Amino acid sequence: MLSPAGLDQLGFASIGDEMIDFVTGLYRELDARIADADSRCANCQLCCNFARARHRLFVTNIELAYFAAHVDRLRSPAAATCPYLDQAQACTVRPIRPIACRTYFCQPAEGYDPAQATEQALSEIKGFLNDRGLPYYYVEWLESLRRLTAGLTVGAR
Ligand code: SF4
Ligand code: SF4
Repeated sequence: MLSPAGLDQLGFASIGDEMIDFVTGLYRELDARIADADSRCANCQLCCNFARARHRLFVTNIELAYFAAHVDRLRSPAAATCPYLDQAQACTVRPIRPIACRTYFCQPAEGYDPAQATEQALSEIKGFLNDRGLPYYYVEWLESLRRLTAGLTVGAR
């Protein structure tokens, strides 16, 4: 479901359709490259519980805009766990999850380099935004969701 308010908060209202086409294609190509590497994921969702996994999730502004444009309802996190994990510990937004959620594997296949997969996608994002005179920046996932649900701007705008 499109959320014009979310797009406006992130500065993508004027190129919403173009942005959506671009990120849809980017995720499709990234998923294909990752599938070729054949890393395994047991879908335990430990890495979505940021406190337990001892890491934080960062996303680019365009990924957040894409997410805001598609998600049924923006959720503000109540804890250091992604609010899009359901009670069965499954990701409820898998088709629109950010790059870091796609590239991370706790048990990567031999030869799979998550940094390389991520950098390639980020390079394409930088090019897309640069060509349109739009800023590129990273934001922390949980804080961004809090700000979006509160109607606040997010990141370096
Ligand atoms: S990458 Fe690892 S920690 Fe994350 S869901 Fe898959 S098996 Fe679990
Ligand atoms: S978007 Fe999905 S995969 Fe990513 S942290 Fe949240 S629940 Fe986990």
